Amino acid sequence: GQCVQVCPTAALTEVYHTDKVWEAINAPGKYVIVQTAPAIRVALGELFGMEPGTVVTGKMVTALRRMGFDAVFDTDFGADLTIMEEASELIYRLQNGKTLPILTNCCPAWVKFIEHQFPELIHVPSTCKSPHIMLGTIAKTYYAEKMGIDPDSIVMVSVMPCIAKKAEARRPELTKDERNNVDISITTRELGAMIHEAGIEFAKLPDGEFDSPLGESSGAAVMFGTAGGVIEAALRTASEWLTGEPLKEIEFEDLRGMDGVRRAVVKIGDKELKIGIASGLGNARHILEDIRDGRADYHAIEIMACPGGCIAGGGQPYHHGNDEVVKKRREAIFEEDRNKKIRKSNENKEILELYKTYLGEPFGEKAHELLHTHFEERERI
Ligand code: SF4
Repeated sequence: GQCVQVCPTAALTEVYHTDKVWEAINAPGKYVIVQTAPAIRVALGELFGMEPGTVVTGKMVTALRRMGFDAVFDTDFGADLTIMEEASELIYRLQNGKTLPILTNCCPAWVKFIEHQFPELIHVPSTCKSPHIMLGTIAKTYYAEKMGIDPDSIVMVSVMPCIAKKAEARRPELTKDERNNVDISITTRELGAMIHEAGIEFAKLPDGEFDSPLGESSGAAVMFGTAGGVIEAALRTASEWLTGEPLKEIEFEDLRGMDGVRRAVVKIGDKELKIGIASGLGNARHILEDIRDGRADYHAIEIMACPGGCIAGGGQPYHHGNDEVVKKRREAIFEEDRNKKIRKSNENKEILELYKTYLGEPFGEKAHELLHTHFEERERI
């Protein structure tokens, strides 16, 4: 039965989707892949009595394997891939006089927001698909080909800190050839419920490792879980590409902090890039109005709909407005980054292999076909 307390409406949706995941796992002939977003590993433990900010990546992987998934991938791989494309797009726009600022694109809630509320800024967002969608696409193309698996037998399940990701996975712009990139998206709370249902004693699990080749990731990728992290990850890579030199200071302190709107100037070689970061849609509105009305001249901005970013997302264990909980999850994200052997997306070997053997150049023709999307002006609501 359901062991996690949820509000009545969310309970209905969440129960419905966990049943779908069990159904897929038990269906003969299906190859069921799961991927977990960066924010999950620093919060899932809370559903099993652990302190907020406990990093449970290894236990989570073991739990997923015992639940019966055929492969356990890391959305962080998708995040590294997103950075390869987004950093290329930023440089392309900078060097070719194209629309600036560029807006990082991985939060579906603000995508909807901008489509309805700021249609005049529709060319601002990066055209990159979000990390879980990119990973789904690559699993059903590159991975399926490499492993000799029929892509139509693959069921891609994503575990997200976010309820809006469920709707994102259904966006027609994000499905290719009538095939979903992500078939079922569940929340951290739903995953917690499934682990309980499976009778797994989470706290006692040994650590497992993500499967290869879509499981390796950099420290930059895990930072997607917190507000400001996506832009920092993009700048680590863009900076190396623009200067042609290894980055000296890997942590961009000026981009970090808990306030809802942050502005910083980042020096890259002889260029100064103006960066804006907003979390919470009220704050996003201010930044977007400034851009629309010509009061701001950012080069790049990041917007996250949830205050604090995905660590405080609507699908996470409830934190009841307790900022301390969010802070601890955030510190855990930075700790994960620091503990990673590689901390820049452009050094992820599995990513480099994917480009070399399959995609070609970042931001090239095949990458565009598979990893980019478009947005549409929608009715103002
Ligand atoms: Fe989802 Fe919130 Fe993260 Fe946006 S910020 S992707 S709405 S969890």
